[in-house]
Amino acid sequence: MNTSVIGYPRIGKDRELKFASEKFFNGEIDEAALQKTAKAIRTENLLKQKEAGITYISSNDFSFYDNVLDTAVLFNIIPQRYKDLGLSELETYFALARGYQGAKGNVKALAMKKWFNTNYHYLVPEIGDDTVIALTGNKPVDEYIEAREAGIDTKVAITGPFTFLKLARFTGAKKAGDVYVSLTEEYIKLVSRLASSGAGVVEFDEPYLVRDPDASDIDLFKKIYSLILGSKNGTKILLQTYFGDIRDIYSEVTALDFDAIGLDLVEGRMTLELIKTNGFPSDKLLFAGLVNGKNIWRNDYKKTLSVLKEIGIDNVVLGTSCSLLHVPYTLAGETKLPDEYKKHFAFAEEKLTELSEIASISGTDYENNDLFRKNQILFEGRADSEDKEVQERVAAITEDDYVRLPAFEEREKIQKTILNLPLFPTTTIGSFPQTSDVRKNRQEFKKGLKSREEYIEFNKKKIAECIKLQEDIGLDVLVHGEFERNDMVEYFGENLNGYVFTEKAWVQSYGTRNVKPPIIWGDVSRRSPITVDWSVFAKSCTDKPVKGMLTGPVTILNWSFPREDISIRESILQIALAIRDEVLDLEANGINIIQIDEAALREKLPLRKSDWYTEYLDFTIPAFRLVHSKVKPETQIHTHMCYSEFTDIIPAIDAMDADVITFEASRSDLQILDSLKENNFKTEVGPGVYDIHSPRVPSTEEIVNALTKMRAKIDDPKLWVNPDCGLKTRGTEETVKSLSNLVAAAKQIRG
Ligand code: GLN
Ligand code: ZN
Repeated sequence: MNTSVIGYPRIGKDRELKFASEKFFNGEIDEAALQKTAKAIRTENLLKQKEAGITYISSNDFSFYDNVLDTAVLFNIIPQRYKDLGLSELETYFALARGYQGAKGNVKALAMKKWFNTNYHYLVPEIGDDTVIALTGNKPVDEYIEAREAGIDTKVAITGPFTFLKLARFTGAKKAGDVYVSLTEEYIKLVSRLASSGAGVVEFDEPYLVRDPDASDIDLFKKIYSLILGSKNGTKILLQTYFGDIRDIYSEVTALDFDAIGLDLVEGRMTLELIKTNGFPSDKLLFAGLVNGKNIWRNDYKKTLSVLKEIGIDNVVLGTSCSLLHVPYTLAGETKLPDEYKKHFAFAEEKLTELSEIASISGTDYENNDLFRKNQILFEGRADSEDKEVQERVAAITEDDYVRLPAFEEREKIQKTILNLPLFPTTTIGSFPQTSDVRKNRQEFKKGLKSREEYIEFNKKKIAECIKLQEDIGLDVLVHGEFERNDMVEYFGENLNGYVFTEKAWVQSYGTRNVKPPIIWGDVSRRSPITVDWSVFAKSCTDKPVKGMLTGPVTILNWSFPREDISIRESILQIALAIRDEVLDLEANGINIIQIDEAALREKLPLRKSDWYTEYLDFTIPAFRLVHSKVKPETQIHTHMCYSEFTDIIPAIDAMDADVITFEASRSDLQILDSLKENNFKTEVGPGVYDIHSPRVPSTEEIVNALTKMRAKIDDPKLWVNPDCGLKTRGTEETVKSLSNLVAAAKQIRG
């Protein structure tokens, strides 16, 4: 059986691309040096895949920043304001990705959005009425030739025109329907240019097909591909889909003249069903996505082989479910993790081996095969992953555990009396600037260069200063500043049983930013109180209320690699119980305002609307309630979200039953406020009054204006005043100025 990989990670196994790019941005290396690093990464990636015996290896999966941006640039979809800078090609590319501020002008970056249900981000192409779509770039061809010179005849992977148009932003009167013909013509030119260079297979990535396409989408897709397929002239066209199934368009797609179709059998819940009921044309290849491109667990060969049997046709190529971009490079980099753990994981490189192994034994009498048996042993159980006590606790959860009493309105009255806060209370989201001394203290402690006592002493000094600063500024609800945290998820992971950490398992989040998600290995529980000492100390420094600061269960799960042997729901409930222990301990120690951040609640919202509740919100929202349901009525529960795109799930957000929610509203046009009003949102709200993602200091007047707009939609007693996210990445000086203006603005409107 042949094998295929949709795409490979491209940050370099030691994050070479990140470091080289950053040096290039700082002017420490020139373009040639950066290109050299990039080429070395591409070549190594290709050779790894070749060595593993992969049949269909992609080229053009590399990107300096993002593949959607590459596609935009390839077709000259570059807004004039970037062209006007008069920069070199690569510099223009980075200006689109990161913005440009310098001698030649000042432009912001293109908007960036999350790539489907992953933590990878793409840049949103802008198509205006004056955009001249034209094949001006040559990247796919160049990289095809480069690969061939390295001895590999690749399939050329490219973002498909349908997905590209669906993700683009149309800034003028023209819409997708007006530009698809010219865009498709340029794609056709590209295919023929590739063919002349010798490329035999072009892969069109069309993940948008898994996302509730409506009749007009299906129509657009069909129009685009009848043009492309009508002029393919011998080049084989692979339609590659991923992140779900294509239930709305399966029959249409299989009836078109594609040479191969890639379907996701990991996340595509209905894919197998679709193949079995509708059949699959015998004149095409089916690229069966069975090796998970998103998670790091070993593939269960028994399951995979039985799905292959069920598919029951010969024209199958075994593939990854999506690009391997979403998993780390290789387990070889993990020197500290014991083998008992490592043998259960497969990063990108190990997934290549899995593909070859499964392909080699499929169709044989594999039950007695050594590879098969060795693989099956892995699924007989894992060391230290089970904790009966945790499982019993989860099993013992009752409906009452999800309900906080008394009802919101009554609590609100009680809290107003007890907390006695002014109208428009001011607060922050939790973290204060992580200055270099703060990071140094943490690193030295971790390396053993500093004793625990010294480490704690330093942080206490920082907390005391932070409290004093907030008092001086005049904030109403204070925070301790989060100086002990590297990352809001890793910090809790490190303090919970059931987690495993890696050294080099980096995954690209966007551009040069990579993340290293911890792995949920087993049943999760809390060892001992995590944040209580810090919060209690902070409270001892002031007479004002101090808000305890925790990360919620959904965010902890969404920013980790989750288990596959138990359901996501089960894992979230375990984490929820652990965080609940912390909530109750904070309360018992006198902390009567507690914030439980759910920064990433929306991250894994299913791509199909019809799945939103049944597959996600129906258990994530109750899990959040489980965390705080047993606190006293006078304890005020806050939550925070890093975005404001929840217009469509407002009832679910209200059903979290928090007392106060803060979120990012300053960059969006405050549209959400209308929806809050329409939906009779009961939770008190702090729609961030300024953008912390920029060093700019907002003026008092500007904040007053924002608040005035908010007051038109939100009743005064429900409105809080706060920045739109944590201040961790900001400098101290700008933070003090911004917060002082924020307090002044609140005072002004109180008056
Ligand atoms: N409490 C966290 C902080 O202030 C929240 C971070 C976030 O929302 N991403 O940093
Ligand atoms: Zn945030």
